[in-house]
Amino acid sequence: MQLTEIYAQADQAQAEAQRQCPDMLCRAGCDLCCREHGSPITYAVEWEPIRARLETDPALYAWVHAAWQGLKQRWRERLHDPTVPTLQAALFDTPCPFLAQGCCQIYVDRPLTCRAFGNTALPGAGTEAIYTCNLEKARWETWLPLYGQPALVAREALFSQLEALNGEPPLSLLAFLDRYFRHASPTA
Ligand code: SF4
Ligand code: SF4
Repeated sequence: MQLTEIYAQADQAQAEAQRQCPDMLCRAGCDLCCREHGSPITYAVEWEPIRARLETDPALYAWVHAAWQGLKQRWRERLHDPTVPTLQAALFDTPCPFLAQGCCQIYVDRPLTCRAFGNTALPGAGTEAIYTCNLEKARWETWLPLYGQPALVAREALFSQLEALNGEPPLSLLAFLDRYFRHASPTA
């Protein structure tokens, strides 16, 4: 199984979820999870196409590099803010540096974590089984009686295939970016 095949499955799952529940996918124009929790779990095999794009797209590189510098400055300030008591808290609500003008700049290469969010299922039933944000779960509470329990693709089924492609545990997208900016010598 190749990464592109797994992504194709995820995209089909999203299309099928949209077909089953046309009112229920992310609210149009919303980018809140990318703005507030923008360091999705990412596998090394997923990082490679993203890295390749950074190295061949100077405009993307410049945007992400500037966003990364801004993030580091923000973290420094937050670590000195007495109202933000822990390192985890300082890092938690982090905008994704690949988000620009409300759009994902690596949409076709975005990690499976992002692809599966909002349209796949966790074990269980009801709204708790829908892998999505709390905002969407609240909306599902209203709409679930109309749609019943939708037959969403299991999130774990997609991730188990991705894990089989990787020899090491995943990192956050920001951890890969940190390594990249520390060690790579991009031509951009
Ligand atoms: S998952 Fe929720 S927060 Fe994220 S884009 Fe969709 S509606 Fe917005
Ligand atoms: S990679 Fe794209 S979809 Fe994923 S968090 Fe970043 S901006 Fe959002």
